[in-house]
Amino acid sequence: MLTSIEGRSVIVTGSSKGIGKGIARVFAGKGARVLIAARNLSEAEATAGEIRMSGGIASAVGVDVSKVEDNVRMAQAAIERHGGIDILCCNAGIYPSAKLFDLSEADWDQVMDINLKGTFLSVHACLPALKARGKGRIVITSSITGPITGNAGWSHYAASKAGQLGFLRTAAIELAPLRITVNAVLPGNIFTEGLEALGPEYTARMTSAIPARRLGSVEDVAYAALFLTSDEAAYITGQTIIVDGGQVLPESQTALEDLY
Ligand code: NAP
Repeated sequence: MLTSIEGRSVIVTGSSKGIGKGIARVFAGKGARVLIAARNLSEAEATAGEIRMSGGIASAVGVDVSKVEDNVRMAQAAIERHGGIDILCCNAGIYPSAKLFDLSEADWDQVMDINLKGTFLSVHACLPALKARGKGRIVITSSITGPITGNAGWSHYAASKAGQLGFLRTAAIELAPLRITVNAVLPGNIFTEGLEALGPEYTARMTSAIPARRLGSVEDVAYAALFLTSDEAAYITGQTIIVDGGQVLPESQTALEDLY
């Protein structure tokens, strides 16, 4: 059993749906006070309402993580409503597909602004409150795409997700004296609204490439994040946990033949 996180103030960006919502639900289920942040405020409020209906503590804020002022407002909301910030989960991200010949500068900038700059801006806005606590936890939702693998159509996305790991390694060094750890979860293919939108052919192809022969659930990722934010993980910083059902392991398609 890990030390309880009951009463801790947690911000999860991009938590109106998908992996972020899963993280928010799991943390709220363990007694944390959770701030749901997403651009669409009514969807964020609906998620916070669902959590409250099941006995948890949650409120919502409309935030675009690519904007400085929104991140500042998000940190302020957690301080005012939940008494400070103990844990920041930088999860907001987008993954529109475009192959290199079609990839525009605007496509590139949008993905970098939300996935990579957004991570920095959320961390930056929350740092004073995390520092004030005397210890803190930051967990970034990166991906296997970029840090470990490549995937046609996602060069901009892969660069943003690999960039998050470069950021976290230096942030982990700078924040170690403040007892703030910075780690990342690297999901494989997790069944979310965003992934579902890529279509049944994509999800079927991905499932066949996973030794566990299923897509991940949002809870699979949330429990890895929960561990990284525990008191027991205080000595783990600048590290990553891959949550992918073994997807990155096969050295060729033949390694998956005759498994099932
Ligand atoms: P999703 O189902 O599309 O949900 C994305 C969430 O992020 C929504 O709450 C969305 O709400 C929010 N969001 C998007 N842009 C935002 C912005 N600029 N500011 C604030 N919130 C924003 O996505 P998901 O599949 O759960 O993915 C979540 C994270 O996991 C992403 O970082 C993604 O790269 C990563 N990931 C996912 C998978 C997977 O298989 N699903 C695999 C590897 C990594 P609004 O649109 O209202 O803002």
